[in-house]
Formats: sequence, structure tokens, C-alpha cells
Amino acid sequence: MDSIRKLYKVGSGPSSSHTMGPKIAAEKFKADYKKADNFIVTLYGSLAETGKGHLTDYIIKQVLGEFNTTIIFDKVTVFDYHPNGMKFEAYESDQKLGEWLVFSVGGGSLRELNEPRKRKVTDIYPHHSMEEILKYTKEHNMSLVDYVIKYEGQDIIEFAHYILDVMTKTVNQGLNKEGYLPGKLKIKRKAMDFFNKYEESKDFTTLIFALSLATAEENASGGEVVTAPTCGSSGVLPGALLSYYFHHNCCRDKIAEALLVAGLIGNLVKYNASISGAEVGCQGEVGTACSMASAAITYLFGGDNDQIEYAAEIGLEHHLGMTCDPVMGYVQIPCIERNALASKRAYDSAQYAILTNGTHHIMLDSVIQVMKETGHDMNEKYKETSKGGLALRTTEEDDE
Ligand code: SF4
Repeated sequence: MDSIRKLYKVGSGPSSSHTMGPKIAAEKFKADYKKADNFIVTLYGSLAETGKGHLTDYIIKQVLGEFNTTIIFDKVTVFDYHPNGMKFEAYESDQKLGEWLVFSVGGGSLRELNEPRKRKVTDIYPHHSMEEILKYTKEHNMSLVDYVIKYEGQDIIEFAHYILDVMTKTVNQGLNKEGYLPGKLKIKRKAMDFFNKYEESKDFTTLIFALSLATAEENASGGEVVTAPTCGSSGVLPGALLSYYFHHNCCRDKIAEALLVAGLIGNLVKYNASISGAEVGCQGEVGTACSMASAAITYLFGGDNDQIEYAAEIGLEHHLGMTCDPVMGYVQIPCIERNALASKRAYDSAQYAILTNGTHHIMLDSVIQVMKETGHDMNEKYKETSKGGLALRTTEEDDE
């Protein structure tokens, strides 16, 4: 499995696969063809279907140049390798300098056609399943945090604090903005209003919703977020963790450790299945985020490794089959509300797991496999193409 550093990435929303990945690809291509003065970029599959709503064309033009870049939305061609294909072509006047076919495979990661999805060079963990990790940590009497530090190095703590700082900054920005999100849906921001209601009531659930909404709304408006594990699902973990921090006055070091526990779960899903909505639907994005947050909150509740595994399993299991059908291709409906509810559900999963001794029937590893199989069986129209489900419903209100 990759380092947790590869899972938590800082970048611009609204989508790690549709914005962050294409931005990184455009930057690399531009650096490779410094002499180019104009570009043609063809977007395929899911990028062609929902790229406009996800600001894919906007972000590519930001990098390559607004007036010298032509974007083609090819909605016919879909590569079997991955639905998020892009072809970059560089020109100097009429002369073609080169082209690059590349895929944005989720979480801001890029792969070339038929390149193995798992890169062995970054395989820093010797274990690839939760079962192996639980066995190892039991044998060595280790917490999951100790386990992560053993393989990532002590400075992973510093990295976790950096990620926590970015998440906090995003939440603060989101809480201080009013008005409408960009795009045709005319969705009103709610985070500030929810936070004001929390200030009056001190109701913890209201705070969870407010902080999750603050991040999800920032993401929807192209703000800076941390992929946790993706941009679309970036509100779940901050909603769960930062609400605990603020409401319970918890030590920030402990929250940073919980972030590492969450990262380990996200890594397992990323390695063994997928965190890309275009590949497996929203179960891979918000489902994984909820699983990560469930594990993190269980850690904060003082749960042992078995209880943490159980909570992570609950968080993912009850999102199995969840489709990705963003209305008009914007990462707004159902995404924003879904983030807030998944943050709350992480507490329910943790509370449930902590009431047990951690033993249960279906393990996290199995649910990750089921998620992968379900995603592959899922009709394409429910995988970030905006061709089915909620995406076909028009909104009459400025509300979800
Ligand atoms: S529905 Fe889920 S997977 Fe799809 S764009 Fe929204 S958050 Fe991402």
C-alpha cells in the first residue's frame, strides 16, 4: 500500500478525479512541451459527461491558457481501462509536438493506458489487508497508530498535523461565507447558518453538520480541500474530527493520530478496491470516507483495534450500492448533504462498535471486496456520468 501521504492530498475542489487529477496532468504536460503555443485536450467518458459541472475544462484552461486551449468533450469514446480518460495534444502553430493519453484514476492520481493501477515502488506497508494488520498488531501489542508510525516514520505525525491544519483552514473559510454556490443549481450555502444554530443550542449533531457542510461547500466552489479520500467526500472526516475537537476540547495530537487511523482504512480501500466514484459509485467515495471517519472516532472513543475495524466495516457496509449521480454534474446534490450525514453516521458506527467487544461476522476486508464487485456490476449511468438517478431530476427549489 502507498503512504498515507498519497491519500491525503491538498488541492482545489470540486473533484479529485475531475479537477485535481486533470490539473496535475495539465501541469505535467505543459512542463513537457515548453515550446507549445496551443493545445487540444479531449475528455472521454465520465470526464466528458460531467466535466463541465466538475470544472474540468475550467481548471485545464487555467493551467494551459484560456485562449490557446481547445477542449473537446468526446461522450462516445469510453476506455475499458478507466472511465476518466484525457488526451493532451501540444502544438507550435500548426506543427504537432506530441500527445499524451492519461487517466485520472481517483484521489488526484494519474495512470497511463494499461499501466498497472498499483505501483509497487510505493508499497511501503508489508500488509495488504485488515486481517493481516490486526494479526500483526496483536502479536506485537501495537495500536494502529504505532503501526502506521512504524512503516511511515515518525514524521508522519507532523504530516498529520499539517493535514489537520489545512482541514481547519477550509472549515473556517466555509463557515465565514454566505450566498450561493457557483453553478446553475443556485444552492444556498448553509454552513454558517448551521454553525450559528449550534452556537445557540450547543447541540453536537448540529456542529457535526456545520463543519462537514463548511468543507463540502468550499469544495463545491473550487476551494482548497484535503482529499479524504476524495474531494467529493472531503467534508466527512473534518465534520467528524473537528467537531470532536471543538466540542470536547480534545487534544489536537489525539485528533492527528485519529487522522492516521482513518488514513490506514482509506489506504486499504484504495489498494484493494477503488475510491473513484466514476469506477465504483459513491460507495467508494462517501462510503470510504464514512468508514475512515468511523475508525477515527472509535479511536478517539478509546476503542481497541478490533472495535476500530468493526466501526470501519459498519461505515462502509451501510453505504454499499450507493450510486454516484450528481445533478447536472455539479458536486453539490446529493454530495454536500451526503457528506454531512456520513459524518454523523461515523459517530453512530463508532458508538455501535464500542458497545461490542469487536467480534462480528463480516470483516472489513470482505466488505471492501463486495464494494469493488458491486461497483463493477453497477450500471454505468450511476457512476459519475449524470445519466441516471437523481441527476435526471430537475430542481425547483434552491434547496436539496
Ligand atoms: S455523488 Fe458521491 S461520488 Fe458522486 S460526485 Fe457526489 S460525492 Fe462524488
